[in-house]
Amino acid sequence: MQLLGLIGYPLSHAWSATYFSDKFSREKITNIAYRLLPLKQIGMLPDLIRRHPELTGFNVTIPYKVAILPLLDDQDEKAREIGAVNTVTISRDGETFRLKGFNTDAEGFLSSLPEPLNHEKALILGTGGAARAVAWALKQRGIGFRFVSRQKKGGDTVDYNSINLNLLDDYTFIINTTPIGMYPDVEAAPNFPYALLSGKHFLYDLIYNPAQTLFLSKGLAAGAKTTNGYSMLVGQAEAAFRIFTRTQP
Ligand code: NAP
Repeated sequence: MQLLGLIGYPLSHAWSATYFSDKFSREKITNIAYRLLPLKQIGMLPDLIRRHPELTGFNVTIPYKVAILPLLDDQDEKAREIGAVNTVTISRDGETFRLKGFNTDAEGFLSSLPEPLNHEKALILGTGGAARAVAWALKQRGIGFRFVSRQKKGGDTVDYNSINLNLLDDYTFIINTTPIGMYPDVEAAPNFPYALLSGKHFLYDLIYNPAQTLFLSKGLAAGAKTTNGYSMLVGQAEAAFRIFTRTQP
């Protein structure tokens, strides 16, 4: 029996195990199991891998998509360009193992975008692992973007308090890559001037649990179009599964 899993902390919001269990029973895959593997610190990863000799690969979620990079032996080109990893394969040789990182979030995000997408500029809320994948994907689509951060990062990064009507006139695609509003903190929303939104705006929340976050509700109330992260979840999971099950070079 082959084991796949998801590392991150906490994992109460995560649907990956349910997604893969449903997929395995639908597709009559009986030799692979998928489990949530909560990890309080990324430094505990080698021990987890040694304790699960049947583990051949895993997905990575908040807060470890960037923190895992120093623990990897190799990365594919896309993951290197993005600077974040959400999929890792394990090659074992007795007690030793090698970890190779991939990024399927960008592919999942791209496959989830509605067509046609009539937006030329985007604001990316947050600057973590998922934000890096979204930025890479937007570049592929020729969509300009600026990050919005709580931290003074300089450059093109925008402060939440300086988002105004002028900026929102150009930047009509707003993507939440922060965990604000994710289960169980469903009463929270990013600090954003929702009253300045209108029908020309499109709000995308990477969160899929709950299906309608407060961020999306506030956007809808202001007349914006909205979508949640479920379609991206499916896209990145299917791309990860193809990596997990292909013959390793
Ligand atoms: P991460 O690496 O920890 O990054 C999250 C970023 O959000 C941080 O870098 C931070 O940016 C900002 N942030 C964190 N706490 C905040 C707070 N209290 N207030 C405002 N901003 C805050 O996490 P991640 O792995 O990128 O994941 C982020 C979210 O995306 C999670 O909810 C995750 O479940 C979701 N996600 C969904 C999918 C999908 O398939 N649908 C895929 C990937 C991720 P600043 O410090 O710059 O403000």
